[in-house]
Amino acid sequence: MRLLAPLARLTLPFAAATLTALLACEPAPATRSGEGAASGATGGAKATATEGGGDRRVSGQLTVEVLDVGQGDAILITTPKGKRALIDGSTGNSGESPIPHLQARGVTSLDLVIATHPHADHIGGLDEVVKTLTIKLFTDSGLPHTTKSYETLMSLVESRGVTYRAAKRGQSFSFDGGKIEVLHPGATPLTGTRSDLNSNSVVTRVTWGGACMLFTGDAEEPTEEALVAGGVGACDALKVAHHGSAHSSTPAFLAAVRPQLAMVSVGEGNDYGHPDADTLSRLQKAGAKVMRTDTQGTLTLTTDGVSLTLTPERGGSPVTVRARNPSAAPESAPTSSATTASAGGSGLVNINTATAEQLAALPGLGEKTAAAIVAHRAAHGKFKSVSELDKVEGIGPATLTKLEGLVEAR
Ligand SMILES: [Zn+2]
Repeated sequence: MRLLAPLARLTLPFAAATLTALLACEPAPATRSGEGAASGATGGAKATATEGGGDRRVSGQLTVEVLDVGQGDAILITTPKGKRALIDGSTGNSGESPIPHLQARGVTSLDLVIATHPHADHIGGLDEVVKTLTIKLFTDSGLPHTTKSYETLMSLVESRGVTYRAAKRGQSFSFDGGKIEVLHPGATPLTGTRSDLNSNSVVTRVTWGGACMLFTGDAEEPTEEALVAGGVGACDALKVAHHGSAHSSTPAFLAAVRPQLAMVSVGEGNDYGHPDADTLSRLQKAGAKVMRTDTQGTLTLTTDGVSLTLTPERGGSPVTVRARNPSAAPESAPTSSATTASAGGSGLVNINTATAEQLAALPGLGEKTAAAIVAHRAAHGKFKSVSELDKVEGIGPATLTKLEGLVEAR
């Protein structure tokens, strides 16, 4: 069941907006070459200022918390300016819900919620999250599920007017100078796997300055193969896939990623035998310092873009590693100059006020189409909705899809 048709989604209120394009979609950055080179555009080095100079271009510390939510996943990412993303919401069961953790941190809104896949230990607690917090953008793998909890969640997303977007490889969200990239699923979901829902988990790579963190949901071997084939490169910290299951963290994948820090989200005494002993051993052999929520509680990763420190709530001391790519330039989205220039604070390009130049910078629009938009505006007045762009010559459904989440009509 797909509750929101593409065009309906386009016209949803983009209250989300401040996400300064938290949701600027970029062309797929295919690889992260070697250890270092930042993927995607590095041009327009709009330094977001540095504390203490050096080559660090992000300001302050990004915090990633792999919450101790029992046999589920819930990961909270917070920028120094207070933008927040939540990856998964564990179950809604007592002791496993993410809500008390969010309340304890005073979280009342989330800029981005990523449901990696619709299994209960990842989305079971998200209905309460959507009900009680302000969510600016909700994204998932796009694969429907027949369970009541999935249907309830998606109904809530729709009824609460939360902007929805199915995650696809190549999407990229700018995040206070950091970046969240979707690496998986690709345009065509994997099929015929041991678990298609797991295999199509939304996989994201978060970069903050030179620090790289990979979040894998319950990805399995076919997912990892696709990631390796897609050129996934070294990444400093890994949220270990599928609670440390034997079906993930393959040698080939670990050889490509070479994580220095590995975080396993897993319930104490769970029925699945997670984490698998061989998987833990593969992670260690790959050079990762492994921490796990069942024995060490919430795992807190902080990074200034130069080094990363992983601190367990209990049962161990903090570990600090140096990011492999400490001199990475800030990754500004190609569309960011356009979005910030005309956005009036929302982060989206207002098609009623943007200049032809700003419009031409958007994906799918060239100078000619941008000029046609401006001419249409002059002849017919303001666009009442983004979908009215289809009245402009040269703009069809495919272009509208590309513009989704980037523009608004105000
Ligand atoms: Zn799971």
